[in-house]
Amino acid sequence: MQFEASIIGGSYAGLAAGLQLARARRRVLVVDGGVRRNRFAAASHGFFAHDGIAPADLAALGREQLLAYPTVEWREGEALAVEPIEDGYAVCMGDVSATGSRIILATGIRDVLPDIPGLEERWGRHVFH
Ligand SMILES: Cc1cc2nc3c(=O)[nH]c(=O)nc-3n(C[C@H](O)[C@H](O)[C@H](O)COP(=O)(O)OP(=O)(O)OC[C@H]3O[C@@H](n4cnc5c(N)ncnc54)[C@H](O)[C@@H]3O)c2cc1C
Repeated sequence: MQFEASIIGGSYAGLAAGLQLARARRRVLVVDGGVRRNRFAAASHGFFAHDGIAPADLAALGREQLLAYPTVEWREGEALAVEPIEDGYAVCMGDVSATGSRIILATGIRDVLPDIPGLEERWGRHVFH
């Protein structure tokens, strides 16, 4: 598969980056493992015009709007490796790889919770960063 840009991570950052590239008619691949950081929360706050929206609904809306652009492809799953090639990069996804001249890493961060009894089950519901 040949793209101009591959975006690893299809949550909010990846969706925002993809939208700008799609608007510029770039051929874009988004690879997403579907493990958003705020997946434990019922509502997302503070994002202009979407205050209180369910995080999954916000991501789904972004994905729907991005995939309306015909130059964008979406692949669910993990990018396992990125290798430099002559004109850019190859993104390896197990059975298949995609090549392109640009890579955007939108992989987010992972919260590592301290080992406190009761914390994990309350994370994103009653306990926040
Ligand atoms: C409990 C909680 C509540 C929050 N509430 C709010 C809130 O109310 N308002 C607010 O503005 N922010 C909130 N945040 C912060 C918000 O969740 C993050 O700022 C936001 O998710 C960051 O988006 P992102 O796209 O950078 O990363 P993420 O949302 O973490 O997404 C990263 C994506 O990359 C994918 N990925 C990672 N590695 C790979 C790989 N190798 N291959 C393929 N895909 C990969 C993951 O599967 C995931 O889908 C909250 C966070 C937490 C933890």
